[in-house]
Amino acid sequence: MEQVEKTTNLNDNNLEIEFTNVSKIFMNQNESVKVLKGISGKVAKGEIVTIIGPSGSGKSTILSLCNLLITPDEGEVRIHGKEVLEWDIQELRRQVGIAFQSGTMIKGTALHNLTLPARLQGRTLEDPKKYMDYVGLEEELLSREAKELSGGQRQRLSLARTLVNNPSVLLLDEVTSALDSISAHEVEELILRINREQDTTILWVTHDLSQAERVGDQTWLIMDGKIIEAAPTHLFFNEPREVLTKQFLELKRDKE
Ligand code: ADP
Ligand code: MG
Repeated sequence: MEQVEKTTNLNDNNLEIEFTNVSKIFMNQNESVKVLKGISGKVAKGEIVTIIGPSGSGKSTILSLCNLLITPDEGEVRIHGKEVLEWDIQELRRQVGIAFQSGTMIKGTALHNLTLPARLQGRTLEDPKKYMDYVGLEEELLSREAKELSGGQRQRLSLARTLVNNPSVLLLDEVTSALDSISAHEVEELILRINREQDTTILWVTHDLSQAERVGDQTWLIMDGKIIEAAPTHLFFNEPREVLTKQFLELKRDKE
């Protein structure tokens, strides 16, 4: 596949997500622990930012701030220029979709799961088959219990469920890491297609460095609640500026 370099130049008109000096404190056994320490970064419409870093460094916390699963303690997160706390939460969650490692399903059939977001918004979903088709799932699966689907099928269904709301931002948290390599590759391709066809802005947390390099336009390395390096993905991997980045890449590559 030919690599087409996206030519997004970040400017005020295409800015989709903006973190300004964001900190987050969690209480841990009566001690407050600062898990994000002044995160700042900008993401343009349609861009894919891959977020890497050691376990526990704050990657999932960064995602959780974007659809108000948690609120920042300091600083601001803006989506489309509007601070997250000013958004109507339902509208924010319609525009900012999230998918997790396990392709979390509620009890019931695939259809029940797929129509959940529409039902939560008080709507009926017009054409569930269209979404199944888009993510490459057979229509017959709609009547199946969601928990009986394979990991790959569940992950597709969880993406389909997010797409029902036509989100402009997707938050992906290790969405392929529980899948076998073939399913992981297929789900990755599906996400890239969603990005291309719907110009969806994506924050994509992954521990798979080759995936981060393959799919990213920009890459951020998070360590101990800070952004160590944020750079265009090809530069990040080929000419990292920071010593910590070089060390992290080497360490991970040795392990792989
Ligand atoms: P990552 O996704 O990079 O592995 P997380 O963002 O999940 O890291 O977590 C960062 C740190 O915050 C970890 O030390 C984690 O234990 C802590 N943490 C995350 N969520 C909570 C929470 N709800 N309450 C207390 N501590 C939390
Ligand atoms: Mg995480």
